[in-house]
Amino acid sequence: MDWIARDAAVVWHGFTQMSCFGANEPLIVERAEGHELIDTEGRRYLDAISSVWVTTLGHRVRELDEAIVRQLGAVAHSTMLGNGNTIVVELAEALAEVVPVERPHFMFASDGAAAVEQALKIAFQYWLNLGVTGRQAFLAVGGAYHGDTIGALSVGDESFESAAFDPLRFDVLRAPGYAEPGWATAAAQLVAEHAEDLAAVVLEPLVQGAAGMQIARPDDYGILDQACRNHGVLLVCDEVATGFGRTGTLFASERCGLTPDLLCIGKGLTGGYLPMSATAASSRVYEAFLGEDLGPRTFYHGHSYAGNALAAAVALRHLRLLEERDVLANVRARSRELRTLLEQRITPLPAVAEIRSEGLMAGVELHTGTPGERRGRLVCAHAVRNGVLLRPIGDVVILVPPLSITSAELMQIVDALSEAITAVTAQQAPVSA
Ligand SMILES: *Cc1c(COP(=O)(O)O)cnc(C)c1O
Repeated sequence: MDWIARDAAVVWHGFTQMSCFGANEPLIVERAEGHELIDTEGRRYLDAISSVWVTTLGHRVRELDEAIVRQLGAVAHSTMLGNGNTIVVELAEALAEVVPVERPHFMFASDGAAAVEQALKIAFQYWLNLGVTGRQAFLAVGGAYHGDTIGALSVGDESFESAAFDPLRFDVLRAPGYAEPGWATAAAQLVAEHAEDLAAVVLEPLVQGAAGMQIARPDDYGILDQACRNHGVLLVCDEVATGFGRTGTLFASERCGLTPDLLCIGKGLTGGYLPMSATAASSRVYEAFLGEDLGPRTFYHGHSYAGNALAAAVALRHLRLLEERDVLANVRARSRELRTLLEQRITPLPAVAEIRSEGLMAGVELHTGTPGERRGRLVCAHAVRNGVLLRPIGDVVILVPPLSITSAELMQIVDALSEAITAVTAQQAPVSA
């Protein structure tokens, strides 16, 4: 039996209709080198989506491999519940130096959704601990994506094919999305109107990735930030996608002038090596949880693999490597090149409605084709056949290359994309959106 058949016989893939899994020509990865994934037939694919936004410096990075091997010689995992681990302390100390959060404490978890879930529960209990009743609601932004657990789904937008779970969602105040001019003013107004009910505002600073790369202007955020401060509403920044240099600064909050009360990090934290996420709480929030042992102010929440030592070791080495290799400079230079390439080569194609990019996150929105055409999927499948791994969100082709991508590789990605759009739309009469 081939690998695809063996896979389909026993594995259930996320966000995937399994009846079509094999027909959609999935890549079954056997190993990887640098920015390339290598399949069971030895074919190589340039990973232009960074394994859905987690890989930062590519695969089998010597320093990162070594950090894990070294930690294996000490301990792989020990619990964070009431006890600690030296490598986790070192990681938290290093993160505390760089996150845009005032005197942070880090609660670790394994997935981005869990980091968001923790932030929501911390924000909720914060007000209870202060003896304030009624501050139980959340305000979130149109188009938001915060993960797939129930709380994260609730603050997330109702799109993303998740309507089946509507009965499980709690109600959220919804501000307009980033594409709407004046979204931030409207959000700030909602904060003022509902201040007495609001525990926190939750947002993805600068870029909403899963919304198909919707981008806000950095100076949009001032008015909303001010409204939160005026009314004491907590601000939660979800930087699971934008953190660790993706948009050209270590955190997008810096660009937006935001110092959140709670910050969620994940994806790039370990360079894409191991599952680890964290919720960073400011001293304002953290101190509201201090009280007597086993008392009601305690945050009764924690995951079994939180603060995994192997993940912490690779995350710490990765953070240092970002600096040693001046990775942010590469992100800024390559993001300008990517923008120019997209404008010159992709924007003029008749099938392309819009391109949006910020740092090394880009979305190429195609005009919707004929009903049932699945144009985004066809374009990406074509690129994959030409050795560039792409994945769409609907009819938006997503480009999220590793932060260490080179000029030549960007050219290869844009060549493959241009070729794919042209080939796919030549077979179908172009239909305007
Ligand atoms: C991916 C993502 C999440 C969820 O992270 P998982 O690790 O997939 O649970 C949350 N928020 C944002 C902004 C994301 O991009």
